[in-house]
Amino acid sequence: MGFELPDRSVLPRHPVIVGDEPRQSGSGAMFCHLYPANGQPTGEVAGAGAADVDAAVAAARAAQPAWRAMNGDARRDLLLRYAAVLKQHAQELAALETLGNGSPVMMAGYAPMVAAQRFEYYAGWADKLRGQTLSAWNNPAHNYVDYEPYGVVGAVIPWNGPVFAAAMLLAPVLAAGNCVVIKAPELAPYSVMRMGELFLEAGFPPGVVNMLAGGPEVGAAIVGHADVDKVAFIGSGGTARKVLQSAAENLTPCCLELGGKSAVIVFEDADLAQAGQMGLSGAISVSGQGCVNGTRVLVQRSIYDQYLAVMQQIAGHIPVGDPLDPGTVMGPVISEASVQRILGIVGKAREEGARVLTGGQRLDGEYADGFYLPLTIIADVDPASSLSRHEVFGPVLAVTPFDSEEEAIALANGTDYGLGAYIHTRDLRRAHSVANQMQAGMIHVNASGEGMQPFAPFGGMKQSGFGRLGGEQGLLEFLQTRNVWMNLKAPQ
Ligand code: NAD
Repeated sequence: MGFELPDRSVLPRHPVIVGDEPRQSGSGAMFCHLYPANGQPTGEVAGAGAADVDAAVAAARAAQPAWRAMNGDARRDLLLRYAAVLKQHAQELAALETLGNGSPVMMAGYAPMVAAQRFEYYAGWADKLRGQTLSAWNNPAHNYVDYEPYGVVGAVIPWNGPVFAAAMLLAPVLAAGNCVVIKAPELAPYSVMRMGELFLEAGFPPGVVNMLAGGPEVGAAIVGHADVDKVAFIGSGGTARKVLQSAAENLTPCCLELGGKSAVIVFEDADLAQAGQMGLSGAISVSGQGCVNGTRVLVQRSIYDQYLAVMQQIAGHIPVGDPLDPGTVMGPVISEASVQRILGIVGKAREEGARVLTGGQRLDGEYADGFYLPLTIIADVDPASSLSRHEVFGPVLAVTPFDSEEEAIALANGTDYGLGAYIHTRDLRRAHSVANQMQAGMIHVNASGEGMQPFAPFGGMKQSGFGRLGGEQGLLEFLQTRNVWMNLKAPQ
């Protein structure tokens, strides 16, 4: 694939879409986006203001009754049409994603296709939404459940995989009959803004999807809006606390998809080559900036040195570089602030006695202007240390030995997070038993991320959030339950 950065003149032109009105400027502040691979500004984006948020919520409210009333098969066809439009624009969206967050085209190239799959999957639910009939025991009554969309959903997403995050939220929200106001992430705005324009191109009724560019103040205005019926937030735990405070004012229910510090547990009977490759992917994938990446590697002591050697050997062959080069596996991190924060974490780990086996320093030479950090493996990490307990969101793996199955489980569960866990073993009993004891929402056994499928419920336990996206549970997340008791007793 011949990827090129989009010319400035073809960057999405509408940072604000309210109803059927795509606007070239918002009522809020301008903000500047930097391309992570060279630190250069790509342009100024006109952010939404309070007036735009009000208008967008009003447009969603006005459109929702007709969207709810639309036949399921018509809604299905629109979602399928949108999936087709995403595929037609896949290369353009991938380039905008790379420009936004610096993720290599090797990965960004898949994002629009994976996003399209989400819309195809939930299109299949739009015409199959059904209630349930409940037994009324021996009462002369008929009892049933049906479902009602919330109405207007306010959505806020992060920058690390915006096309996928937008699809993960919007597909079930829309299939369930809700309208939405969504904010594009300020650090990587372009791909999602373009997705907003494409809803109109696909023939969605005006007001069903309203798109706003902007930063925290726009997000806060959406989630705290009195006329938003449900909040869907993907981002960090720190911001989620503010989101909950804003939502508390109107008792707005929230679905929160937050960060993680997912453990990779490598038992002595694992396939070491496979587990070595997969163990590294937590730092490689989006330069370690993925919520569910396995960034804490727990290795049984009997194979600890051998496993570290395998990891180091593979790490030396990971191509780092220009995200536009189709051969690049690792690109830059998102910002200069991230570079400094991550280097600070690595420095502290060194002071605390951990061993930095690879990386640990900023890349220089041709990469000096970009926000580049190499794959950094840190061994002998104290499980009680900050590195082991907190999300780094950069290409840093913390490796710690363990002795027994019980200890591995205790270490894996020993953080405030509970998003993912990865188990490497050939022992079937152990695989099931350990999976069953993980305090985490998504477990992989001898795998490293393939489970993020449209049909699979995804979400966290503990401080990784609540609510699920994906599968039937993802649909029910955006529906309210109504129970009907119908008396069949003849009047006496
Ligand atoms: P962030 O919390 O800083 O920002 C997320 C979004 O919230 C941005 O669009 C931002 O503008 C907005 N925001 C900021 N303040 C707000 C406020 N007061 N009210 C409402 N919105 C506000 O997170 P980030 O740095 O963009 O993303 C990284 C985090 O997201 C990591 O913790 C990562 O693990 C998490 N994440 C989770 C998932 C998941 O599905 N569980 C997926 C991707 C990323």
